[in-house]
Amino acid sequence: MRKAKIVCTIGPASESLDVLSRLIEQGMDAARLNFSHGTHDSHRRAIRSIREAAASRQAAVAIIQDVQGPRIRVDEVGEKGLDVAPGQSVRLQTALARSGGQLAAASGAPAGGQIDIPVSYPHLARDVRPGGRILIDDGLIELTVTRIAGGAVECLVVTGGRITSHKGINLPGTNVSAPTLTDKDREDIRFGVAAGVDYVALSFVRGPEDIAAAKQLVAACGRDVPIIAKIERVEAVNALPAILDAADGVMIARGDLGVEMGAEAVPVLQKRIIVEANHRRRLVITATQMLESMTQRASPTRAEASDVANAVFDGTDAVMLSAETAIGRYPVETVRVMDRIVRAAEEGIAASASRRRDADGDARSCSEAICTAASTAASAITASAIVAFSELGSTARLISKQRPVAPIIAFTPFEPIRQRMALYWGVTPHCMHQIAQTDERVHEAERRLKAEGIVKPGERIVILSGTRIGQPGGTNLMKLHEVP
Ligand code: PEP
Repeated sequence: MRKAKIVCTIGPASESLDVLSRLIEQGMDAARLNFSHGTHDSHRRAIRSIREAAASRQAAVAIIQDVQGPRIRVDEVGEKGLDVAPGQSVRLQTALARSGGQLAAASGAPAGGQIDIPVSYPHLARDVRPGGRILIDDGLIELTVTRIAGGAVECLVVTGGRITSHKGINLPGTNVSAPTLTDKDREDIRFGVAAGVDYVALSFVRGPEDIAAAKQLVAACGRDVPIIAKIERVEAVNALPAILDAADGVMIARGDLGVEMGAEAVPVLQKRIIVEANHRRRLVITATQMLESMTQRASPTRAEASDVANAVFDGTDAVMLSAETAIGRYPVETVRVMDRIVRAAEEGIAASASRRRDADGDARSCSEAICTAASTAASAITASAIVAFSELGSTARLISKQRPVAPIIAFTPFEPIRQRMALYWGVTPHCMHQIAQTDERVHEAERRLKAEGIVKPGERIVILSGTRIGQPGGTNLMKLHEVP
């Protein structure tokens, strides 16, 4: 059984029922919907198709809604785009400011040797300072701010290239004043929560207050949906412990993180974020460009295979595919390849090496102390499985964070919790109706595991349960059990 989970971004290459079914067959555990693209109608259709494909395979698939955040973009610059060369002057401002008569030139038309680049963000001139860097298209084009003139930002081109419509703009080192949760995000989150997403991922998070604002919004929608903070800004890296305390998980958004902090900073940050997330028992997803060449080719580069495996060695809960499955030519093959790489990595490393080691007194609750003991006991008796009765998924998450060798089989009475647990490292989630008597519950779990061929007579399993049914967080019982 593969332990680290696979997240696939769904897009034109993968949104059909047929491709979704094949992605699930090859190992997709969670589907990510990127709300930087698409409409509520297209996302509603995708959610319906993902649920249908999962149901037909009886699979648990988590849906992650990834909201755009205050992403700054190049506005319309025409089909051909704009070519800029090193040493050239360019001027950035919103189309609105331009139409307000502040500048006469249309976008791209040279005005005294200067090229106008329309941007989506109205407060650019307020936020940047002369000498600051502006990066366009994943950092491929670099500008230096020379002057702020009215509503326009004048720059010198450092690295040139072609600028096309809607390319992302990053302002490394600049305190962007736009709120993390934009009006569009709020509307999208209301939609997503109502449509039944399992996680909400927030882009360009700066600090714990952003998570609190999102949690408040989700609660106002009447559901409890875990929040994943995307770590892609310097401010987020600096506030990592507080963000981890506030959020349910983090995503190492290596694309923007690499643009904001330099590609060379990403490997070290990846290790640090994974260690800190695991230490705080939070989910961690490693994302972006993992098998990028497979957008065009049917096999990965050796460097990409190493990258996926190293994220597993680092201790990530999940690895994520973006363009590979959203718009790539080989979405299904990419998941198959990723599944194989993860399995090989997990087989290759000494399983005990990935285990979290607790310091004395490190357990934060009785449930966690029991989970630590269960992981140790499972190793000691070479248990075939750890069975966790986990109503809201918290026991499953705590045992998952112990990184035990044995697979974790989690039972919950609630389908949304089953879907949520699909993202947990090493956890195979199942639904089981509520049974009050512990012995009867164990008996029913044993019957199901035998029927599905997960355990055989004579094998030993470790069972985690609570004696207070209907009270989440009350795991207080561990049973070592030989299957009759
Ligand atoms: C990233 O920047 O790596 C990322 C995952 O975010 P997005 O795809 O929204 O740019």
